Amino acid sequence: MKSLVVAFLLAASLVHVVGAASAGSHQKALERMLQEIEADTALTARQTGRSSLDDRVLAAMGRVPRHEFVPSELRRYAYDNRPLPIGYGQTISQPYIVALMTDLLALSEDARVLEIGTGSGYQAAVLAELGARVFTIEIIPELGSEVTERFARLGYDEVTSRVGDGYYGWEEEGPFEAIIVTAASPTIPPPLIAQLEPGGVMVIPVGSPFSVQQLTLVEKDETGVVRTRQVLPVAFVPLTGGGQDRSTDDP
Ligand code: SAH
Repeated sequence: MKSLVVAFLLAASLVHVVGAASAGSHQKALERMLQEIEADTALTARQTGRSSLDDRVLAAMGRVPRHEFVPSELRRYAYDNRPLPIGYGQTISQPYIVALMTDLLALSEDARVLEIGTGSGYQAAVLAELGARVFTIEIIPELGSEVTERFARLGYDEVTSRVGDGYYGWEEEGPFEAIIVTAASPTIPPPLIAQLEPGGVMVIPVGSPFSVQQLTLVEKDETGVVRTRQVLPVAFVPLTGGGQDRSTDDP
């Protein structure tokens, strides 16, 4: 019994050492990234109404190995405070924007969260680090399968992903305490509003694709009344898919 315990402890410390070594080489860049997020937060405080972010959000971002979420040839830029291409014309969002959107969700411990636009999976990993149970939808099948493999390899078991058109949400798993849309939409998809629970919040870039959108906070109160507030001008890749085409055809 004793040797079993020792073996377990040894294995556990080995995992720890291996993890620390891979994060270690990126530690300086990661710390600089967190400082830049704080600097951007201060610079945009007048617009966003937030002069600082929740420490738990910054701590969560400090735990996600962002270099695992970018193409290998771009790893040296992984902790730069800017978006990077991830293939198929898509991008991993700028760290500051990930931090702000996460902060706006004001998640409770073990919240159920829906993400539309999995991309690299980085935003979902940040939410998971905050203790959320994450459901995430990606429309590009290749990105969807890459990310399934990535979540498994990095041990993000609290994230469930699928390929599909996120415009329609994930009704079987809803309602959600929080919904985060990481692609720009001209309107707020009605199915997503429907899948938000009373007291829930959604963060979504609203505006025309390929121009500046408004990062919008959508709040549904306990009686089901929905209010929106524009937080910051942002630039996201467009939300695509059949649902989106239908909404732009709407009168
Ligand atoms: N959250 C991502 C960044 C996403 S970029 C990250 O952390 O890396 C936006 C993503 O939304 C792209 O991968 C794009 O393919 C996806 N997307 C666009 N329209 C979509 C739709 N209708 N449903 C689901 N995903 C969509």
